[in-house]
Amino acid sequence: MSNTSWFNKDEFKKNIISNCKSLFRKNIDEADKQQLFQSVAYAVKEIIIDRWIATQKEYAKQDKKTVYYMSMEFLMGRALGNNMINLMAYDEMKEVLEELGMDINVIEDQEPDAALGNGGLGRLAACFLDSLATLEYPAYGCGIRYKYGMFKQEIKDGYQVEVPDNWLKDGNPFEIKRSEYPTVVKFGGYVRSYRDEKTGRDMFVQEDYRAVTAIPYDVPVVGYGVNTVNTLRIWDAEPVDTFNLSSFDKGDYQKAVEEENLAKNIVEVLYPNDNHYAGKELRLKQQYFFVSASVQRAIAQYKERHDDVRKLYEKVTFQLNDTHPTVAVAELMRILMDEEGLEWDEAWDVTTKTVAYTNHTIMAEALEKWPIELFSRLLPRIYQIVEEINRRFVEEIKAKYPGNQDKIRKMAIIYDGQVKMANLAICAGYSVNGVAKLHTEILEKQELKDFYEMMPEKFNNKTNGITQRRFLLHANPLLAAWITDKIGDGWITDLTQLKKLKVYVDDAKCQQELMQIKYKNKVRLAKYIKEHNGIDVDPNSIFDVQVKRLHEYKRQLLNILHVMYLYNEVKKNPDMDIKPRTFIFGAKAAAGYKIAKQTIKLINSVADVINNDASINGKIKVVFIENYRVSNGEIIFAAADVSEQISTASKEASGTGNMKFMLNGAMTLGTMDGANVEIVQEVGIENAVIFGLSSDEVIRYENEGGYDPMEIFNNDQNIREVLMELINGKYSPDDTERFRDIYNSLLNNQGGRRADTYFILKDFRSYADAQKIINERYSDEKAWAKSMMLNIASAGKFSSDRTIEEYVHDIWKLEKVHIPDVK
Ligand SMILES: *Cc1c(COP(=O)(O)O)cnc(C)c1O
Repeated sequence: MSNTSWFNKDEFKKNIISNCKSLFRKNIDEADKQQLFQSVAYAVKEIIIDRWIATQKEYAKQDKKTVYYMSMEFLMGRALGNNMINLMAYDEMKEVLEELGMDINVIEDQEPDAALGNGGLGRLAACFLDSLATLEYPAYGCGIRYKYGMFKQEIKDGYQVEVPDNWLKDGNPFEIKRSEYPTVVKFGGYVRSYRDEKTGRDMFVQEDYRAVTAIPYDVPVVGYGVNTVNTLRIWDAEPVDTFNLSSFDKGDYQKAVEEENLAKNIVEVLYPNDNHYAGKELRLKQQYFFVSASVQRAIAQYKERHDDVRKLYEKVTFQLNDTHPTVAVAELMRILMDEEGLEWDEAWDVTTKTVAYTNHTIMAEALEKWPIELFSRLLPRIYQIVEEINRRFVEEIKAKYPGNQDKIRKMAIIYDGQVKMANLAICAGYSVNGVAKLHTEILEKQELKDFYEMMPEKFNNKTNGITQRRFLLHANPLLAAWITDKIGDGWITDLTQLKKLKVYVDDAKCQQELMQIKYKNKVRLAKYIKEHNGIDVDPNSIFDVQVKRLHEYKRQLLNILHVMYLYNEVKKNPDMDIKPRTFIFGAKAAAGYKIAKQTIKLINSVADVINNDASINGKIKVVFIENYRVSNGEIIFAAADVSEQISTASKEASGTGNMKFMLNGAMTLGTMDGANVEIVQEVGIENAVIFGLSSDEVIRYENEGGYDPMEIFNNDQNIREVLMELINGKYSPDDTERFRDIYNSLLNNQGGRRADTYFILKDFRSYADAQKIINERYSDEKAWAKSMMLNIASAGKFSSDRTIEEYVHDIWKLEKVHIPDVK
């Protein structure tokens, strides 16, 4: 498969040297590391460019259907290494760099992560783009070019401090500004309507609005081992060009200032909330901004080759990544009616064949609902259209369920003074999908039951996946090479081939090799931890890892409470037989999420006490890795022995971190939640450690109004001891009240919130038992190695290539477009 005959070493080398001169007026021996990174990145871009042009040319020629993946978030991480990998020229390019005296790892380390996302949802979008390009499907990612992405996390005195992420400071060598596609987006004002005497149609015109010009920046998405280069199109905002306006408009100083501020604010910063809706006006502006620009551009491109917009759905489909881009429904209706002259029914027919929706959560606090006042003031024409969609939909509900007000209360798009975005997406979408089997079942049986009963044909499941190119081939080169040595390199584009490894699971030599690779990856992570935390960790200890956004439902608190418990046990029984364990955490908390930030402080406080207690002989270490993100994640996944996936059952829609760990040979310690259920199904329950309430049990307790944690507190001495340590100063000698909120959240009902909302105490014993099983299993090295190999061999299902093929087959109906060789 590997064919890099196109690669010209000398030319690549020459380009790096000349880039350095023309960009920085320096020879490479004078340039700093960032300048060297830029010089290399531009040289790689030069190779990409010809394929990118060829791809777009072939797409225009073949004119096949294209998916527009609309997402507020794309958590791309670094591009350089990934592009080198996908060009299949990583080793060759690495060699050139060596000849120039550069270390590839140092060069890659200069690139800031493109952190235009919060967590799983944004990373899913990035994995999907990689798979779409690799599988040769015509696709665009559509999003926002935030000036500041996800904040950088610094830990000061154990607390999280948020620092702005000025990721564009040195420029982005891979992006291309497309000044030729300025697109105007309008906010506010009012709608003037009149009857067109010639056609007899009612016409609607937005007046006295504030406008911004959206300018697209294109980022190449290189497919692995193919010539396809797709496009991530992220929009920047600029003030509208006032140069061409009449002198009257030019004189509107107030308006000019407002529009300048609007343009500046709109793309300023990514909202740092994961699975939580804040209802901010600026957020709705961001949503309409990128959706309007993307839809306008998609239609303009369609019209370059087609004159009947009534057949738009034959060439275009919009996938909505959660409800964030759902205004696309009304924006498409607006363009089709107000600009293209279609009647309502014609426009509705097109829209409902073009838009599809992915649901990512059942958590009530994440559901987007906009107050009518805000929505109609900001988007007056869009609101009119949503009102009419709602009016017709409510008629439909009434016809189907006469006299049933409850159905209207639950399904209406506008209700109780609010616009409900999920209801709009489901009503208008031709497909509604969940992101793991369990999640889709819960949608159908509980959260979206009424919709499912009314329109079952729309519902389907698409279990999430991850790209093995980034999370194995790039992140874990030792394991990747070992696998290729055993079964060939077919797994890189067909991950199900990993099952061929199963013939080696009892082979002692293979087991040893695998343990050796894991050890080396643990040494790499230990070095990173030493450099960044100043803590010495033992690569011979069990690396037990929980990295993901800090959220109560993900239960980092359960993890750290168990560490506190284990520490007590070791202190009480100094001879206790436990394998040394390093508990590794990494998590950003939303800036305004108090209890999440307290949990970070608790983890760091527990780390301080335990890591400095010489009496336990290093049996337990606790490490909080600062600023968890895609690039350090790649080092972390490769080094993990244990993957902590301990969310309250029913709360984690899928999870994708769980898949990255499995692919790198970690054992899942988890609840039967999200895709954990399918991981267990693939690898076998004996190769994971499962604990805790089932989703059915959680849902039953919730319907009964919760459970009584005081009973556990009163009857379980170890748990009580740990909880008292939250308020007796053991981990906060200078302020015994520091962790009072955490203590209260576990034991007291407060302000309509149930005590221990996430069943931490309820699951504690079961979790502690599961941790004991991990300890025992790790003591049998051969059995552990076998399990590790089986986890890797069973990870094939969790490739985003499989997920994308399912979207293509069941939802989008795309055809591949093969891009011929360039030159
Ligand atoms: C994969 C990934 C996530 C999602 O992790 P979960 O454990 O599924 O929540 C979040 N952040 C980063 C940086 C990731 O790479």
